[in-house]
Amino acid sequence: MANIKALKAIYDFYEDFLKGTPLACKKGCSTCCTTNVSMTTLEADYIWNSGLFTDSLYQKLKQAAKEEHFVPSTTINTSAAMCLSENQMPEETSPVTFDPCPLLTEDGLCSIYEVRPFSCRAMSSETVCTEGGEAYMPPFLVTINLAMYQIIEHIDREGWYGNMLDIMEMARRKKEDRTETADAMEGKIKTNRPLPCFIIPPDDIIRFKSFMRRLSQIETGDGKKVGDLLPDDWQIIT
Ligand code: SF4
Repeated sequence: MANIKALKAIYDFYEDFLKGTPLACKKGCSTCCTTNVSMTTLEADYIWNSGLFTDSLYQKLKQAAKEEHFVPSTTINTSAAMCLSENQMPEETSPVTFDPCPLLTEDGLCSIYEVRPFSCRAMSSETVCTEGGEAYMPPFLVTINLAMYQIIEHIDREGWYGNMLDIMEMARRKKEDRTETADAMEGKIKTNRPLPCFIIPPDDIIRFKSFMRRLSQIETGDGKKVGDLLPDDWQIIT
């Protein structure tokens, strides 16, 4: 539960941060709501515990999970560790499908908007991307988004990462106290790992450090701050 409070505090901080970005995204726009959403088990626990994720939504998700869908080859922190050790990252071999997210309502709204995972929060554009347009995300926002994925994975380092369709199922089984491992999901989910480093373009380093100073001071409840949940010696590579 402590980690869920921390996750909520991080989401809130990120929402405030986004207010400084002139986004074109509007209520009812759902172009990026597909079955390609990846997330951690911590985020799935937050959704399951919210009361918004009804049995009917679970059945829709379960049905969609039977179809071929994107399965990430590795977690974000694993990729960062590979960069740090100059190992080649595995290629994504899984198909990227563009079926609509099963949690979309007929009006193009998200059924679990308040508790949606970070992948959905991070999808934004300064330009209107519908009707032949292209999404545009400012480079510093790309940098921040990547770091946020890494921080959430670090907080959930005992958990797993994968497509929402698979991770929600894994989180349900955990809730029922069934002893499950990633193997039981037929290789569809990956084990999270601690934060090895942040990968930051040289031009963003000063702004990134300032962002991290502010984020670290955010209270997560139980007398703790986000900074208490991160490694003391987090490092940056460029
Ligand atoms: S969970 Fe919600 S915001 Fe995320 S893709 Fe599905 S409908 Fe869209």
